[in-house]
Amino acid sequence: MSNYIVLVKQVPDVTQITDNAFDPETGTLIRTRLASVINELDTQALAFANQMQQISPEKDGKIVALTMGPPMAEEVLRYCLSRCADTVVLLTDRALGGADTWATANPLAFSIRKIVKEIFNEDQNYYVVSGMQSVDGDTAQVPPQIAEELSLPCIAYATGAEYKNGRFEFTRIISGGSQVVTPKKAPAVITVAKHEYPLFATFAATRRANRMEVIQWASGDIKAKHIGVKGSKTSVIRVFPPGKSTRKCQQLADAKILAGLLVDSFKTASSAEPSGNGQKSRYILPSLREDKFDRSFEGTEKENQDFKLLSDALKQLGITELSQIDEDIRKEILAAAGGRFHKKALEDMLDGLQLTKPSYKGEVWVVAEHSDGTIHPATFELIGKSSELADSLQTKVGLCLAGYNLAESTTKELIAAGADNIYLIEDAMLSEFDPTAHRKVVADAISTYWPQIVLFAATPQGRMLAPMVSYRVGCGLTADCTSLDIRDSSRKGQIAILLQTRPALGGNVMATICTKNSKSQMATARPGVMKGLAPDYSRTGKIIRHKVELSETDIRLQIVKTELGTGEVNFGAEVIVSGGKGMQSRDNYERLVGLLCQALAKKLDTQIEKGASRAAVEQGFAERIHQVGQTGTAVGPKLYIALGISGAIQHMIGVANTDTIIAVNSDPNAPIFKQCDYYIVGNIEDTVPQLVRALQAE
Ligand SMILES: Cc1cc2nc3c(=O)[nH]c(=O)nc-3n(C[C@H](O)[C@H](O)[C@H](O)COP(=O)(O)OP(=O)(O)OC[C@H]3O[C@@H](n4cnc5c(N)ncnc54)[C@H](O)[C@@H]3O)c2cc1C
Repeated sequence: MSNYIVLVKQVPDVTQITDNAFDPETGTLIRTRLASVINELDTQALAFANQMQQISPEKDGKIVALTMGPPMAEEVLRYCLSRCADTVVLLTDRALGGADTWATANPLAFSIRKIVKEIFNEDQNYYVVSGMQSVDGDTAQVPPQIAEELSLPCIAYATGAEYKNGRFEFTRIISGGSQVVTPKKAPAVITVAKHEYPLFATFAATRRANRMEVIQWASGDIKAKHIGVKGSKTSVIRVFPPGKSTRKCQQLADAKILAGLLVDSFKTASSAEPSGNGQKSRYILPSLREDKFDRSFEGTEKENQDFKLLSDALKQLGITELSQIDEDIRKEILAAAGGRFHKKALEDMLDGLQLTKPSYKGEVWVVAEHSDGTIHPATFELIGKSSELADSLQTKVGLCLAGYNLAESTTKELIAAGADNIYLIEDAMLSEFDPTAHRKVVADAISTYWPQIVLFAATPQGRMLAPMVSYRVGCGLTADCTSLDIRDSSRKGQIAILLQTRPALGGNVMATICTKNSKSQMATARPGVMKGLAPDYSRTGKIIRHKVELSETDIRLQIVKTELGTGEVNFGAEVIVSGGKGMQSRDNYERLVGLLCQALAKKLDTQIEKGASRAAVEQGFAERIHQVGQTGTAVGPKLYIALGISGAIQHMIGVANTDTIIAVNSDPNAPIFKQCDYYIVGNIEDTVPQLVRALQAE
């Protein structure tokens, strides 16, 4: 009999974000202005666990819902009780507040241990089920970190479960396709990416739920080791509104106008530069700066201004050495600053000026992602970014490559892309991606060589591996970065640290984060944002073989089936026409996308390729090889035409580098309209033939 622990979280309702939810002065979101709701994916996880219970032969397993939060988080537990939970546990304590994912996973894992001991009577046949991520953090880090703390296998991005041959088999999303896997034995952690069978509460069940006991534990009850702000390994240094979209977001009245604009956009398009690299001035280490008082690379604008004021004041007073600064000079500086900073702040800044040694040492590493030796494009993008960071830090780019029987051409390709040292870990047990085995070898290499920065691609694989690895080596991790910069925080005694900037709250705010209490700074970075370098096959690099002992017990998952896209597709084409679930049928997809491709090829005299959303692929409208997006291919054509595609983040990540995005959607509130250049609100069945006729008439 299996038992289930479902992790649920209370989150701000980001679907209700309006302008008045933002502070007019700072532009940041005021969370108290939003209602609190249960995280949508956690409701799906609850339904998923319920389905697991129903399909297993012994249906009397317990479902325990667990949440960590303030006392009001009890509401989400009542939601669970009114659906299918037998018991609920609220972990609540002020000491747990302000935690990052590290200090969230740790107490949750300790609570799970207590649930297993006290509620399941030490029965180890259990599954931890949670939503893939929460809408406020969007990191997807907590469940794999819990798996690491509890030494359990983790199956992330599950979309289905079946009970076959006396065990559960889970379908999960992977880069380029899907996979069916089964844990060799329970317990295991499962994260749910999609489960479309919601549970509803009856009136009687809601009344019963309101009367049931909510078990409350405080931090002392679970004896977790890392909690709250103190136990965290990252800190947010700045929250700011996202930059305005550079897309035009212009609605067009009809297909005729669209046809004209489409042709013009194609003719005037230039290859768009990805925005992730080098938009700020390149960092220079303090010891290499011409002026020893130059502190123009601080983390925040305010710090930069303060140091500029200080350095100007020092120059005016004729100070050339810090040793010349006595009490009188300090008073003069404070007077010159006009009350801008206090005495203590000045002391901190003067201490900061003494520092020239970087806070971290070691190489900048990328953990490579590959499928049978074919390197994922995001790895090349990260090598490009790492070269820039390593240049600033006067260090080398290391590449951690784990697999089996990898061809020499693969390592040559990585060196040509910018890697200086390749840390190669080969073992027959690494031939397929098993998170438990891979995290062991990657963590072992990191804790042998201690690079100062480690980057992973924010693909499903990277987003699962990175949290396990970082937790194992005791380092902080920031998810889904869209910008990475080296900066100082001299006042806090930090030199040449990695500033990790990422969207949060569904992209409604941006947060800049830095690592603390860690030997290495780790981040995952969004595919398609950073830029790879042009390959240089004259480059030389070193291959350093790293051996890690692996045994059968390190392989915790059995792969039952992998489905990957096959065939040929030319995503280098200048125009891509993609169809989504809104195409309604395979016939519509083939007919309407085909018609538009033909008309465009004739009109623009260029190659046109067909694309599809993941939902269209899952519906069988298009082959998997045509999927565009986070787990498909990232494209960057001159024109991208999205037909019946809603604009989910995982799709739009894959088209970020497109010159002009055009959308046709029947829903006037489709999210894609806020992320495209031109759009028509209309049915594809009417609009596409009209557009084809207009192109033919042009
Ligand atoms: C880990 C992970 C990775 C993922 N990777 C990818 C990825 O690589 N690529 C990807 O695309 N998705 C990916 N997804 C899925 C993604 O979250 C969305 O579910 C998916 O992109 C939705 O596809 P869609 O827009 O076609 O479908 P829907 O979201 O269902 O949207 C269909 C749209 O069609 C419109 N429509 C309906 N009928 C018509 C009509 N007659 N005429 C015009 N419009 C109509 C609707 O208004 C709606 O906006 C991933 C998800 C996860 C969890």
